[in-house]
This record gives sequence, C-alpha cells and structure tokens, in this order.
Amino acid sequence: MLFTKGSHVQVETNRCLNQQHNGVECSHCVSHCPGQALILYNHQIFLDKEKCLGCGLCFSDCPTQVFGSQQWDETTIITEVKDQGARATQFFCGYHETPFLSKEEKEKGAVQIPTCLSSVSRGTWYELGLQTAVELRLDECHECPMKNCVDRMKLSVETAMEWLSASGHTPDFIYVDTAGKAQKKKKLQAVSSGLKITSRRDLFLSLVGRRQKAEPEITAKDSAAPEEMKVKKRGNYLPDWQKRLEDSYLNHFRQGGIPAFWPTIQMSTGCVNCGMCSRYCPTQALRITVEDKQCTHLFTSGHCLDCWMCMLSCPTQSITRDRHPITNPFEVKNIYKAPVAECNRCGAYTLVNEQNLCYWCEKQPTEVDLLSDVRKRLFEKKE
Ligand code: SF4
Ligand code: SF4
Repeated sequence: MLFTKGSHVQVETNRCLNQQHNGVECSHCVSHCPGQALILYNHQIFLDKEKCLGCGLCFSDCPTQVFGSQQWDETTIITEVKDQGARATQFFCGYHETPFLSKEEKEKGAVQIPTCLSSVSRGTWYELGLQTAVELRLDECHECPMKNCVDRMKLSVETAMEWLSASGHTPDFIYVDTAGKAQKKKKLQAVSSGLKITSRRDLFLSLVGRRQKAEPEITAKDSAAPEEMKVKKRGNYLPDWQKRLEDSYLNHFRQGGIPAFWPTIQMSTGCVNCGMCSRYCPTQALRITVEDKQCTHLFTSGHCLDCWMCMLSCPTQSITRDRHPITNPFEVKNIYKAPVAECNRCGAYTLVNEQNLCYWCEKQPTEVDLLSDVRKRLFEKKE
C-alpha cells in the first residue's frame, strides 16, 4: 500500500478542528484508525508512522482534510473512470490480487486504488456514481488487517447514493464479494439516513450537554470582544471533495429526487450579533453581513461540517443545530435578520438596544465604576 508506515502522508495539523476550538472534541480519525496510529494530545493530532497500516481512511474521515499526500489524491480515480468511459466499473483496493477482469467482464472498466477503498470520500463516490455503475470488490476484505475500515467505506458509499437519489439520479452500486459464501453481490438501495446523531462526539456532547467557553486564540481588530474571547476570521477549511461536490451537485441536479438530510441551524432571538459564530465557523458556512443597518446571518448547509463550533462559541446560546431534508443544500439561506447599531463604546455592530452597547462593552465596567472601585480601595487601605 502506498501509505504503509505513513509514507507520503502529510498531516496539516493546524486544520484540525480541535485546534480551532477546545470544546469540539472531534476524534473521528483517532477512533476509526485501524492501526491506532493517530494520537490526539493537547488538542494536536500526531501520526505514529510505525503503526500506520496505510489504508488512508483518515483522508476521507477527517472533516477538514487534515491528511493528504503529494503522491496521490482521489481525483486520479475520477480521471481514470472518465478515460475508460465504461458503463460499469469495478473498483479494487491496492491489496487485491486479481484486479483485472475476467473475459466475461471485458466490457467493464477497472480501477485499482493504491490504498484501501475506505480512503475515497463520499463526494468522490458521488462523482463516480454520476459517470458509471459502481462495483466495489470486497473479496479480500475478510482477512485484511484493515477490515474494520469497511463499515466507514460503506457509510461513505451509502451517503453518496443518498445524494445521487436526492439530485434526481438512480444510483447503481453493488458490493461484490466472491469470498463471502452468503452474498456474492449485493445490490444497494439509497436509503435516507436522516441521522440526528452523526458521530460519537455528537452523541457524547448531546448526552453531556456541554458548552465550553471559546479558547483564547488569535486576536482580531474588528471585534469588540475582550482579548481572551477574540478570534481571527479563519481560512476556509472545507475539504476539496466538498468544494467539488457543489459544482457536480448543481451541474447534474434534476428535479424529482427525494431531498437528502443535511445540517441545519436555527437562531433564537437571544442573538446579540456579537459575530463569534461566523468567526469560529471553519468553512464560512455561517456568515454575517451588515447592510442598511440590518444584520443578516447567511447559512449554506452544503458547506457545514456539523462541527458545532458556532454553537459552542455563541455566548448567549442562541444557536441550535439539527438535520433536515433539503433539496438544494448549496442554496445560501437567510436564517436571521435584525436591526443593528454601532456600539456607543467600541463602534462594533450590535443589535439595537437601550444603550446601544455591544455584548462585550455592556459587561465591561464603566469609568465611573472603575473610579469608585479605586476610591473604595484607597479608603479601605487607609483604614
Ligand atoms: S478527524 Fe480531523 S478534525 Fe477530527 S481529530 Fe482527526 S484530524 Fe482533527
Ligand atoms: S455552521 Fe456551525 S456547525 Fe456548520 S461548519 Fe460552521 S461552525 Fe461548524
């Protein structure tokens, strides 16, 4: 396998969600890695190359694309399938001993991936499903040290099928398992997952109901927040497959599909327009604009990672998150609109209120308070 012992694997640790916010508790890669080669320590991710089995599951499993390689990326599969132009294509992993097709199957295309099939993202399975009928060869999985990856691979495949159905296509995917006696071929059907709980982290946080304070990070001049709560507007950490998905989804969309489940968020009237949610959002799925003394919160489901960061960073707990069936996940939705004014003390936009003070300045002591505090101390000292 191309990545065995972590060869050619690059880890962009600054993209990890745990580095963006200490309350995120993401551990997708750590909990699914079949070699237990990933360690999360002090909000930082480390790869123990000696233990790495080379499956590449972390490539597709990480929501912010922390793992990648200069030597290989999954777009090569799409190019190969396009070049072959076959009506149906079989996909083999790098361990498969018989990657080439039998005589009876000559009219089919064949692609061997230099890693485990689980390294392919759900967005890429979607793109492949638009071009060809997909046959996944799982014959070698039973004895493979990476067999625990198969469930994650199936989740990606089945999510892609759900998106294909939602965008008006009939997904044609089968698992082929010549080693398994009970089922040789399993024709798959797109199912609507509609999961409210999408990960172990979701489950954990929903049980504990934990909301942590934002971790002090890089400061931004344009925020009225006190230094320890300031955070710079970050880059966009949307993975490449999700950027490509937007184009494929919109270019191939046909009416008549069954809407698929995508992340949604709701804002309550407790919002004070402090801007923390959009500053923390790692993909700019949630943005705030101000025009004509009105703030507008804009949300794009198809760019949302379900990371909870907007919710965790909101100081007034005005954001709730869910999943709902959505026809066009890439439509930018206006989810909240309210009149704003410039804060009388710091000038940042805040929701119109009696004193027109923003959330942070309202909590700061005034000069009068500070003076009376000094007087008090002096007086107490004399006594
Ligand atoms: S899956 Fe990605 S974001 Fe999550 S802990 Fe691993 S590296 Fe960080
Ligand atoms: S909108 Fe919220 S949950 Fe979605 S990516 Fe942005 S911060 Fe994460």
